[in-house]
Amino acid sequence: MNDLTITPVLVPQCQSNLLLGNEHHYGPNNRIVGVDLYRVAMTLIVPAEASDARTDLEDTLRDEHRRPGQPYGIALLEAQQLGAMMLTDPSVIEAFRAGASALPNGPDTIIYGGWPSCGYGPWENIIPRTTWYPEGTGILDEFEGVDGARVTLYEYTVDEGLAWKRHGTPTGKTAAMVSWHCDRCHSPHEFELDERFDNRGPHDRQWAGQHARAHARGMDGKCKPPTGELEKVVAAVASELRGRPVELPSKAATCAAEEGCARVRHARAVTARLAAQASNGTSGTT
Ligand SMILES: [Zn+2]
Ligand SMILES: [Zn+2]
Repeated sequence: MNDLTITPVLVPQCQSNLLLGNEHHYGPNNRIVGVDLYRVAMTLIVPAEASDARTDLEDTLRDEHRRPGQPYGIALLEAQQLGAMMLTDPSVIEAFRAGASALPNGPDTIIYGGWPSCGYGPWENIIPRTTWYPEGTGILDEFEGVDGARVTLYEYTVDEGLAWKRHGTPTGKTAAMVSWHCDRCHSPHEFELDERFDNRGPHDRQWAGQHARAHARGMDGKCKPPTGELEKVVAAVASELRGRPVELPSKAATCAAEEGCARVRHARAVTARLAAQASNGTSGTT
């Protein structure tokens, strides 16, 4: 059976529910162990007929939660840095879609960590890419870093052709990305490609957040304020080549103008605008 018969229904205005101030809770190993609030991103009904998606789903379920020969009702929940899946009866999902009732919330609710797709496998083409913020730009969280540093986890958008290469060729298509920035050492540098991520859903935001906290806790050993030594060496070589003194902007200046600091500043402004709209009750009307 074709997996495309599983059609996710996005929750209208889901992204205007920003859950500002939502707290994530962390275990000793830097991983998220829980979150105060979730929002419902979308719902799905998995038909009883055999499909790759159904098999893949059932592989992750405990025996007592499997429903042989019956369809599954699924609600995909998300927080800024965490995804979860509620497993229920399709009738519950249908009532929720019709606005007739809320999703169950009691101790018998079956919740699994994560969404069925982490960007690969049979669910990859079923679950649409989503961002936390309506335009894919905003602040997800902030962490206290080394020596008073502030490490910011944020979503941003960029032309697809420039997402991995600052001087690439623009394509006119927008890519949703997630990354972090440290205001003490201005990490990650533009060439650190493994510190920015395609932003396809909560799984990617969670992964980026883990990198951000590793830096904030000094675990990657990289949080050192720029000394300007590198710029001095490069400037000396450039000066000799050109036969006149050449000055290069400091790392902090470049960052403020066009790199991490600039993107965080923009994400912060967008977040403030959305938060103001939400508190005026005008969210989602733009
Ligand atoms: Zn740092
Ligand atoms: Zn910076």
